[in-house]
Amino acid sequence: MLKVPYVMTPGPTEVRENVRLARSVRCTNPDLDAKFYDFYRETCKKIGELLKTKNEVRILGGEGMLGLEAACASLTEKGDRVLVIDNGIFGEGFADLVKLYDGEVVFFKGDRREEINLEDLRNFLDKDSNFKYATVVHCDTPSGVLNDLSKICPMLKEKGILTLVDSVSAMGGENLEVDNWKIDIVVGGSQKCISAPPGLSLLSISKDVFAAMENRRSPIKSFYCNLLIWKNYYEEKWFPYTPPISDIIALRTAVDNILADDGVLKRHERIGRSVRKAIIEAGLHLYTRNGYSNTVSVIEVPEGIDEKKLRKYMVDNFNVMIAGSFGYLEGKVLRIGHMGENARENIVVYTLYSLQKALEHFGFKCRCDISQLFLEEIHSL
Ligand SMILES: *Cc1c(COP(=O)(O)O)cnc(C)c1O
Repeated sequence: MLKVPYVMTPGPTEVRENVRLARSVRCTNPDLDAKFYDFYRETCKKIGELLKTKNEVRILGGEGMLGLEAACASLTEKGDRVLVIDNGIFGEGFADLVKLYDGEVVFFKGDRREEINLEDLRNFLDKDSNFKYATVVHCDTPSGVLNDLSKICPMLKEKGILTLVDSVSAMGGENLEVDNWKIDIVVGGSQKCISAPPGLSLLSISKDVFAAMENRRSPIKSFYCNLLIWKNYYEEKWFPYTPPISDIIALRTAVDNILADDGVLKRHERIGRSVRKAIIEAGLHLYTRNGYSNTVSVIEVPEGIDEKKLRKYMVDNFNVMIAGSFGYLEGKVLRIGHMGENARENIVVYTLYSLQKALEHFGFKCRCDISQLFLEEIHSL
């Protein structure tokens, strides 16, 4: 058997035992059994509760990327102007999906160490707001920057622009109010703060999006990524493809776990704040200057340290896995995921303890006892 470390990465995350057990129960035929359609619909309703929305919710059989591509495929037609709000790797990555479906990308670029500046965005939109939709990332995981959707999405919607949000690494760990914030499509994944096994995308889809899909001049250029074919699955008792029933049963348990825990966001906030405080006190530097997500901490690699070796040392000696990053951040930052089931004091203390031991092994001298400072801080909140 695979030796499994404590997975303190920004997804996949630890999966609670009741979720793992749920995944192993006997299954019916999900295409033919009417009761499964009810189960699927109820699960969607519960996800809607989590997202604070009355919009339609769908669960797709494929990790977060599928939801993102499906949203772009379903909305984009040849020549459509799409605003891509970019202050990170996933922010920029939306442009590739838009282009794949022949959309015309216009970037709004922010500073990659900061959350999107609202005044700059407003000035930009006052000059040009002729966009079918805009894309924005909630928490851009490679850098950990968190954008203020509560302000960004209403600003876009006011200009008649549909809003497409990637909240894969924030949904379930950061506040998300789909209806109040006017989010037309929000995409999440099963494997991040939801703490279910990887494999599912979750989306909420507004009436405006259904209208936009129905009023297209040309058909959606995909089957698997077509959100419109999901519209009447319940009435028609027809799924476009056999739903991954075991994954969906597990997801339902994970969602029930979150809904039963009314302190879940507070828990993420206390953990996130305390980790950041301890990291700074130790003489390390956080990557961003503001817009800190409570789901992941992104730390600059100290001068002279090889982050790959450091991470390997943590796995070999402490059985703790944290992450590096990719793209322009490769080799430059370390990332500790403290999301979902991993937003817990005991495992975060152990992770910080192992990080300190590893840093010291490679010659970095911490200015304090990181795990102790974390504990003092969290108990003062
Ligand atoms: C994890 C993640 C995704 C999805 O990536 P997968 O490869 O499907 O896990 C999308 N967006 C963000 C911001 C993410 O953190």
